[in-house]
Amino acid sequence: MSYDPDNIFAKILRDEIPSTRVYEDDDTLAFMDIMPRADGHLLVIPKTPCRNVLDASPEQLATVMATVQKMARAVMAAFDAPGVTIQQFNEAAGGQEVFHLHFHILPRHEDVRLRP
Ligand code: 5GP
Repeated sequence: MSYDPDNIFAKILRDEIPSTRVYEDDDTLAFMDIMPRADGHLLVIPKTPCRNVLDASPEQLATVMATVQKMARAVMAAFDAPGVTIQQFNEAAGGQEVFHLHFHILPRHEDVRLRP
């Protein structure tokens, strides 16, 4: 499947639609999910075009995973969370809704369920 440069996250990268940016470097961006399933629910994306893990180069994966790890540690500290869930979906059948590679970062506490 090909990359659509008009997907929502590409528009966020180009500042064509607003987002709450929490971290940015030359290669990656982290911003708040618009429908958070936990307090502190972040999304981490590469700045280069990439549909999902299936479409990613090893370099894109390594770069984005470094920011995923950084953000996972940061939200655990910020929300005093003893755990973190990292989620990622590929293609519509795999649960993907926005077709620009992204990782969900969800700080977790015992006995607190993710919101639907
Ligand atoms: P997925 O593709 O992993 O199934 O889900 C895409 C995620 O992007 C969802 O959690 C959804 O809430 C989030 N999302 C969709 N549109 C927007 C948007 O315009 N802004 C932000 N910040 N998040 C969005």
